[in-house]
Amino acid sequence: MRKYKVTIDKEACIGCAACTALCDNFIMDGDKAKAKKMIISEKELAKNKAAENSCPVNAIKVE
Ligand code: SF4
Repeated sequence: MRKYKVTIDKEACIGCAACTALCDNFIMDGDKAKAKKMIISEKELAKNKAAENSCPVNAIKVE
């Protein structure tokens, strides 16, 4: 099964928490978002992609 990598640009993150509302892989760490798992499976892709697309500053990359 394919694996995908999740990265968050902490410099870019403005702490809006939109990603945490859409996908449980994202949690707030102080005023920045953090990914619980940086390597995700295909099964988790849709939710993580939704979070990526929700980020107003494009800080999340799922590839
Ligand atoms: S949606 Fe983007 S800016 Fe908002 S908390 Fe998540 S990573 Fe940060």
